Amino acid sequence: MPINIQQDKAYINGKWTTAADGRRFRVNDPYTDEPIGDVPDLGPAETQDAIVAAHAAFAPWSKKLAVERADVLWRWHQLVLEHTRELSELITRECGKPLAESIAEVRYGNSFIRWSAEEARRLHGEVIPSDQADRRLLVLRQPLGVVAAITPWNFPFSMITRKVAPAIAAGCTVALKPSEETPLSALALAALAHEAGLPAGVLNVLTTTNAKGVGEVLTTHPLVRKVTFTGSTSVGKQLMAQAAGTVKKVSLELGGNAPFIVFDDADLEASVEGAMASKFRNAGQTCVCANRILVQRGISDRFVPMLAERIRTLQIGHGLEPGTQVGPLISDKALANVERVVADAVAQGAQVLSGGTRAGKRAFHPTLLTGVTPGMACFREEVFGPVAPVTVFDTEEEAITLANDTRYGLAAYVYTRDLARSWRMAEALEYGMVGLNTGLISTAVAPFGGVKESGMGREGSHHALEEFTEMKYLAMAGL
Ligand code: ADP
Repeated sequence: MPINIQQDKAYINGKWTTAADGRRFRVNDPYTDEPIGDVPDLGPAETQDAIVAAHAAFAPWSKKLAVERADVLWRWHQLVLEHTRELSELITRECGKPLAESIAEVRYGNSFIRWSAEEARRLHGEVIPSDQADRRLLVLRQPLGVVAAITPWNFPFSMITRKVAPAIAAGCTVALKPSEETPLSALALAALAHEAGLPAGVLNVLTTTNAKGVGEVLTTHPLVRKVTFTGSTSVGKQLMAQAAGTVKKVSLELGGNAPFIVFDDADLEASVEGAMASKFRNAGQTCVCANRILVQRGISDRFVPMLAERIRTLQIGHGLEPGTQVGPLISDKALANVERVVADAVAQGAQVLSGGTRAGKRAFHPTLLTGVTPGMACFREEVFGPVAPVTVFDTEEEAITLANDTRYGLAAYVYTRDLARSWRMAEALEYGMVGLNTGLISTAVAPFGGVKESGMGREGSHHALEEFTEMKYLAMAGL
């Protein structure tokens, strides 16, 4: 029987449910503003239900053999694979990104399910050489319990699998609150998980416009042992403070302000390609996208015109239209923010080499700004739009100072063909991730995460599963 990808109910304790008061909210296509569906608008009471269900499911789920959990994840992976097209179209309709990017997101998101299925069986403990003859010292890895996950709209599919798959692989259960902009992708994932045989209560999906009320329950309920969040730095700080009351573990993937540094000795074409890929994916609405392009003076006269040329060819449109490379921004608020940032730069003396204006109702022309200085908003803030601000520098030391001059520390990119410089830069950059001669670094097999105010904790790699476990030290005496 075909699985219904587009659900119109929330998912609690293995059942499709509505809000107790019957409230619902609409989901709109960000490009056209046309409604594409509606879902229940849940509140604190239903959130409690989800947490209680997740707690009840924890004991049996965590006691299953690792291979049994892995088998469910493998079936889930297979079903996602079989529904790639439908899922991708749903992602594009919900968040606006071009279809090719949505297909890439489904593949990327599904790679976390696959990786977690594989890693579920490799969550080893430790035997520590003892310091006493009659003792043996061991470390067990045990799943934490109920995990609360709060996710953003910009990757409505993969930001969920990146948290949920390792959590449930490790034996945890989850109450998930997806973004109010993109609840449909989350429900589609739940429908496939249900079909894959995930037991009731292991994954619960709370659709709501009451992020604050639901978030408060998720971060303060005594049965929740961990909060994992991807979103803005301001909300992350608030959630961390709320979680402090019951000393929950916290993982945060917050904002970034990625420097994209091009040295004189870089491969010119590769650096332009890298900048395009890093900057304009999802119309610049990714937390790792190049936010500031720092170019060494000797290459800037060739790099900037080439980048401008490439930017002018980008095709704007609806994500489902063939050929579209840049879709809309997610909301009027996001669009207004991009306009503010560009106006601020121009007022302070930056030049607009291309773009700089709205394109239709909700999109923005891909924009290249030169003469950008550290005082400008586009240098200091996460722009989250298709705007490439360029700053020219002279020395390696200056590049490092400029790059680290931010409270953020998620991703940084460096283009150089000098091996020694690559090492110096990789070590000097205060970032959780550094791409050397690449603008795309995300993969399920490597640890993704930031330092400073970009967050804490890592997603992807074997470290990700460990973040959903507690270490238990066991001392066996009297041997
Ligand atoms: P963005 O600017 O990327 O939308 P947000 O941090 O506002 O970033 O949103 C990321 C996620 O956090 C979304 O699921 C949103 O609903 C949720 N969120 C926003 N405010 C709160 C809050 N006060 N408590 C809990 N979750 C919140």
